[in-house]
Amino acid sequence: MIKIALYSAHAFERPYLVNANNEQYEFLFIPEALSTSTVSLAAGCKGISIFTSDDASAAVLELLKQEGVEFVATRSSGYDHIDLNKAVSLGIRVANVPEYSPHAIGEYAVAMMLALSRHLPEADRKVCKYDFSIDALTGFNLHYKTAGIIGTGRIGAVTCKILHGFGCKLLAYDIKQNETLIEKYDLAYVSLEELCRQSDIISLHTPLNEHTTYMINEQTISLMKKTVMLINTSRGKLIHTKDIISALEAGKIGYLGLDVYEKEKGIFFHDYSNKGIEDEMLKTLMGFSNVLITSHQAFLTKEALKNIADSTLQNINCYVNEITNPNLLC
Ligand code: NAD
Repeated sequence: MIKIALYSAHAFERPYLVNANNEQYEFLFIPEALSTSTVSLAAGCKGISIFTSDDASAAVLELLKQEGVEFVATRSSGYDHIDLNKAVSLGIRVANVPEYSPHAIGEYAVAMMLALSRHLPEADRKVCKYDFSIDALTGFNLHYKTAGIIGTGRIGAVTCKILHGFGCKLLAYDIKQNETLIEKYDLAYVSLEELCRQSDIISLHTPLNEHTTYMINEQTISLMKKTVMLINTSRGKLIHTKDIISALEAGKIGYLGLDVYEKEKGIFFHDYSNKGIEDEMLKTLMGFSNVLITSHQAFLTKEALKNIADSTLQNINCYVNEITNPNLLC
């Protein structure tokens, strides 16, 4: 039976993967992330499956090739953790799951907006301490607010649809315009600078690449409205974290929702409740009452997990059976 190693295999996804596999392949569930030190666990495997926290850099891909691995199926839509150029040069095929549930992430971005705008995390902390006073919890309506969506692909489009339902005015910045969004939701495409200037809420939905790295930095933050709300459910490195901390300290950023963090690898998805963490930047962020941080869980719905598992199996089947695969990245 063909062996497939699944790195960063979490308890929450295993039943979905086992079900989708239906005993076609021998699955080797590896809880550890893929790295130079765990590559040898894939010895004898034709393919591997990885997640966003795995390291598929050039050095790791070279070692995978030496172990005989022929293809990589990432259980994510983003693929900034994979060196595609190196994969091409080594002849390793790579496939992703481009669209498993944009609604899972779009809804989550809006959930973060609502939680922050109505001070739900602070309210919950107060009630748990039997403090039922509400004096410090005055929020604001999303209705009539200007929401700036950066990246109007699959997830950004869902976020626009939901926010239109809330009665928000929609602005967007993208290198490609989506005419449907303009027609259906009265959305206006503007420059990144204009979006920063006019938005009450900004939500990030672009992939991470050389053009988008640190797109939210001291300069773009300086254009934003005082007490703007910023939501990032996309990739941590879209935001220059040190700059955002300075802006929080200065009261320029009013609300920050982060499901991703630029140095999340090795921290997010793990339980450090006994040991604590050493990342000072993350600890500083955690200290702000107007910052909501979650551990890269926007994708975590039953519907998304089923789709990820089914599409990953389809990607594996396409490679093994030499069938054309629309999800092939290289
Ligand atoms: P998508 O490819 O459908 O849309 C991305 C959009 O960004 C496209 O419209 C594209 O034109 C635009 N874009 C690309 N480069 C740009 C640039 N330089 N400036 C402005 N716009 C640019 O992708 P998607 O499915 O909507 O996913 C977006 C991102 O969300 C993924 O790349 C991934 O990083 C992230 N994501 C996060 C989670 C999570 O659990 N937190 C889950 C899935 C995806």
